[in-house]
Amino acid sequence: MSIDATSVKVAVRIRPLADYEISKGCKTIIDVIPENEQIIVNNTKPFTFNYVFDAQSTQEEFYNCCVKDTIENLFQGYNMTILAYGQTGSGKTYSMGTAYKGEGDTGVIPRAISDIFNHIQDNFAIDFTVQVSFIELYQEVLYDLLSGKPRDQCVLDIREDTQKGIHIPNMTEIQVTSANEVLEILSRGSAGRATASTNMNSQSSRSHAILTVTITMQSKDDPANIKTAKLHLVDLAGSERPKKTGAVGNTFKEGVNINKGLMVLGNVISCLGDEKNKSTFVPYRDSNLTRLLKDSLGGNSITLMIACVSPADYNHDETLSTLRYADRAK
Ligand code: ADP
Ligand code: MG
Repeated sequence: MSIDATSVKVAVRIRPLADYEISKGCKTIIDVIPENEQIIVNNTKPFTFNYVFDAQSTQEEFYNCCVKDTIENLFQGYNMTILAYGQTGSGKTYSMGTAYKGEGDTGVIPRAISDIFNHIQDNFAIDFTVQVSFIELYQEVLYDLLSGKPRDQCVLDIREDTQKGIHIPNMTEIQVTSANEVLEILSRGSAGRATASTNMNSQSSRSHAILTVTITMQSKDDPANIKTAKLHLVDLAGSERPKKTGAVGNTFKEGVNINKGLMVLGNVISCLGDEKNKSTFVPYRDSNLTRLLKDSLGGNSITLMIACVSPADYNHDETLSTLRYADRAK
């Protein structure tokens, strides 16, 4: 993928039916027309995206097809954001590789990190500094997943001023020199995230997790020549409606808050994707999620949205709603 007028791309990924779904007799309601990058729900009108991956696609195919080539752009100084969107249980964490445990067929994050360090090792003309932060956004409150402190003591502020733009005082940023160090940080941070359960009520499914890799590049011949690029890897909160979580009282409010972040993100990305809208106001400031990602969404940056969907009949409504959301983004 090269930088062009449409630097927002959308990839839809369908997960396989789970064993428990097959044994309950669930049916698949999704068809894919691979040559047209189209997806059809229940024999209705097809949706077309930049990429569509069926349930048989491997982690490697997925990464090589829609991420690998874009990593090079970081070294030209472009910022990049990869977001996974979809209902809880649709494959966001699997596809992103957020819950990395050191084994198995990994998702996007470990592969991207490995490619970044391969590039760095092969390039002797430049001094690279790589820093990593890992934060979680829950009900518009920001938590530092790397501070090592108890959760109530790792709340962060988001500040905005004309000089520094958006910045987060006291956020832990760890300087790293190898892919393995990043993966250790990732698994440490993921473990600190509420719980890794796929239960629709678990806090982790209702929060956004943002791993940010900042690469500073200084030319050895010309030290005044410094470039910085940021890669945000975002495992978004589950997109399901609050009612599906059996929510009452406070939980309902949480659902509404999260959907606000996802809603504003949808509005922002749809503004960016729309050529006619180039000059109009982009509502970054309407949610903390979009404020945090502002420097890496739109402008001179690359955005990939991975829309994850379930193939199962009982997920029909959420699948359609994910595809509609993703359709607005492209
Ligand atoms: P989410 O993060 O959206 O809640 P997960 O990534 O936890 O969903 O996926 C739910 C379950 O489905 C997990 O057990 C995961 O391993 C499995 N899964 C998701 N996507 C795929 C896929 N493309 N291939 C195989 N298994 C998958
Ligand atoms: Mg998840």
